[in-house]
Amino acid sequence: MVTMDSITLIAESLKRQGIEYVFGIVGIPIVELSMAMQAAGLKYIGMRNEQSACYAAQAIGYLTQKPGVCLVVPGPGLLHCTGGMANAQINCWPLIVIAGSTFQDHEGIGGFQEYPQVDAARIYCKYAVRPPTVASIPTHIEKAVRLATYGRPGVSYLDFPGNVLRATVSNDAIFDEYTHPKPPLCYPDAESVQKAVELLKNAKRPLVIVGKGAAYARAEEPIRQLIQQTNLPVLATPMGKGVVPDTCDQSVASARTLALQKADVILLLGARLNWILHFGRAPRYAADVKVIQVDVCPEELHNSIQSAVAIQSDILPFANQLLNKIGYYSFGKNSDWWKILKQKCDINRRTVGEMALSISVPLNYYSVFHHVHEIIPKDAIIVSEGANTMDIGRSMLHNILPRHRLDAGTFGTMGVGPGFAIAAALYCRDYFPKKRVICVEGDSAFGFSGMEVETMYRYKLPIVIIIVNNGGIYSGLDADTYKDIRSEGDLTQITPPSALTVETRYDEMLRMFGHAGYFVKTIPELRQSLADALKITDRPTIINVIIGPTSDRKQQTFNWLTESKL
Ligand code: ADP
Ligand code: MG
Repeated sequence: MVTMDSITLIAESLKRQGIEYVFGIVGIPIVELSMAMQAAGLKYIGMRNEQSACYAAQAIGYLTQKPGVCLVVPGPGLLHCTGGMANAQINCWPLIVIAGSTFQDHEGIGGFQEYPQVDAARIYCKYAVRPPTVASIPTHIEKAVRLATYGRPGVSYLDFPGNVLRATVSNDAIFDEYTHPKPPLCYPDAESVQKAVELLKNAKRPLVIVGKGAAYARAEEPIRQLIQQTNLPVLATPMGKGVVPDTCDQSVASARTLALQKADVILLLGARLNWILHFGRAPRYAADVKVIQVDVCPEELHNSIQSAVAIQSDILPFANQLLNKIGYYSFGKNSDWWKILKQKCDINRRTVGEMALSISVPLNYYSVFHHVHEIIPKDAIIVSEGANTMDIGRSMLHNILPRHRLDAGTFGTMGVGPGFAIAAALYCRDYFPKKRVICVEGDSAFGFSGMEVETMYRYKLPIVIIIVNNGGIYSGLDADTYKDIRSEGDLTQITPPSALTVETRYDEMLRMFGHAGYFVKTIPELRQSLADALKITDRPTIINVIIGPTSDRKQQTFNWLTESKL
């Protein structure tokens, strides 16, 4: 009888289903599985925390449309991973999580790291299963990959008890495995496209909003053409940036608030009307705004407000059909709408411009980002997280290519940066060897997953980490106040919850590998260190940029989160 190990069966099945990368942390009972994966030709990246492994696996899914695998140990391993699973599911990114679980004959009597894993995983997943037999493993791996990528992308979870990972099965018993084709494209109905054309043509203040669903859909070509041909004002969501270049004439990013508030017809392409888009409701929008909503997921249609036209479709065929039907229509350059939008863009750019050009020390966010933007390659993948660091960076660091920005996303998760950067750097290594990854982190955000610098070093990933360091969450303390506080009283009572240590030398982390990072306080130092860091191609670098502890955003008409006092 010819038999096969279950671990080889899992590894080869994943490989056949198109999986390329596995991110994980080994331990009992998955050590042998990780080696079987390498033997099957899967690329295995050992990370330092399951959360980061999970972030990396989902970022590779977003970048390649093929889910990455996150491989973890039972109990705490899987629980550490659930933050990442929720993040992927909420971002609508494909991901496969595989966990070992306690030996089945130890279940119920306090097995090592025993936990109801399939139940726990289910709420973060589209599909969660413990394959009932070894012979059925390929069937469930095929299904896990298919469900992660078909329809609205999301998470699949596969559970393998220790005894199953040590089992063998007769080759004859294994169910025949098939591979599925790429997800089928969902086409819009002609009548809805016609309605959309009419609404857009009759609009006085039209606006196109491009979300990360459009980025995931690879719909950049027809959307770019549509915007160019129709001259419609366009606004990208944070990770929708780059589908249409931020630098194009039709981008009204600098007049975001006004554009949302005054638009009478909005074409919403692969974005949800959630908190990121202020729910589509007044006062952030006109109460009678007409939304043309295009989404692959029918359950998303009419969510939060009723859409004027709701279209279940992939963005790519929809954009192609719209382009076709809208003909030579072009929205007037000299219209009142364009005039007020341009005017607002000019005013906002001027306000920011003054702060951006300041070279006074301590530096401010705008000046740091202005120079970072000038020096980094225009086609770099930008990873960004933090509060102000991410918010201000979003407007100052342009993306001219789609899927070139990875940030805290729909779930607002801090700690994603290093994992995302590792995935992006592997993607560059394997598909675009000259492309760079720039990871722009707030000092607080960096703290969540900073140890992944070791992973970056081990795999020779040339990630440039820029830490915008204000010594705190939102804001920090100045050096004198910090010193005073530390010389008196109970620190747990008097240290502001938002404060971190002043001028922490995150750059010194590179000493762990015998290298120096960059400690930067002035613009010339920043420019020089960035130029030097970009020359390093076989390891990560850290540029630790000290900015004023209370450097802030320019005054906003509305705060991003209106409920927050911040
Ligand atoms: P953003 O954060 O950019 O606003 P969201 O994640 O809120 O974007 O929304 C993305 C939307 O795109 C989701 O509702 C998802 O269902 C949808 N989507 C994902 N892939 C596609 C696709 N290929 N075609 C159309 N819509 C898609
Ligand atoms: Mg900070």
